[in-house]
Amino acid sequence: MGEPFIHLDGVRKVYETRAGDFLAVSDVTMDIQPGELVSLVGPSGCGKTTLLKILAGLHSYDAGTVRIGNAAFPFDPKRDVGMVFQQALLLKWRRILDNVLLPAEILGLPMKPARDRARDLLAMVGLAGFEQKYPYELSGGMQQRAAIARALVHDPKLVLMDEPFGALDALTREKMNLELLRIWKESGKTIIFVTHGIQEAVFVGSRVAVLTAGPARMADRFEVELPYPRTLDMKTHDVFGAYTRRIYALLGMH
Ligand code: ADP
Ligand code: MG
Repeated sequence: MGEPFIHLDGVRKVYETRAGDFLAVSDVTMDIQPGELVSLVGPSGCGKTTLLKILAGLHSYDAGTVRIGNAAFPFDPKRDVGMVFQQALLLKWRRILDNVLLPAEILGLPMKPARDRARDLLAMVGLAGFEQKYPYELSGGMQQRAAIARALVHDPKLVLMDEPFGALDALTREKMNLELLRIWKESGKTIIFVTHGIQEAVFVGSRVAVLTAGPARMADRFEVELPYPRTLDMKTHDVFGAYTRRIYALLGMH
């Protein structure tokens, strides 16, 4: 393996609150190679969002090392991060195309090529023909697809997804898991996919990192040796069950 794109070593984060210091992340160590899709799974409140905010350069940290980028893959957090949240957070007064263009506008990128790229991305996420619609005209799953297109419009090197499908119904969520894998393959991005869904983590991830109940500590990391393209029937395979049992056991849920 080459030099990692992301190198985390002993990362620790303490929030200062009125009630005193609160340890949110105690010890996270992990390397990520360019182009990986790493699932980060752990119980609610364990520090997943905190970790993503540190990676996005939005939060400081109190100990350890965070290094992103290398000679082959230089990294500028302002330019090179795309984020997708649990809610699509589309601006309701803007058309879908204009929502997708927002990061390009904020970064002051040339608008003509950005507009072309936004159209291509909308086609890639299955929203060709919806460019001029308003968010309320789209279903929850479609809004989330638009949010994914928005996260890619400025061609970031790293895409951080924070429980992106958590608000969707179970069937739409499975469909979006398949879509995500297709988009990952087509875009070649490095993706960190945060979820508290154990099945979802295994299904999408080329690797899974398991965080303990807060304060987050890295409990385990493993490769998911299921081939791509992944298909939903793989969830019934013995190896899939073995991975999910392993995570349940780590989280004390067996
Ligand atoms: P997760 O995303 O895994 O649910 P978070 O990273 O959001 O967890 O939060 C981890 C812990 O840190 C939680 O106990 C949460 O209440 C606390 N926390 C998160 N943000 C702040 C903050 N800005 N100030 C103080 N405590 C916080
Ligand atoms: Mg969270």
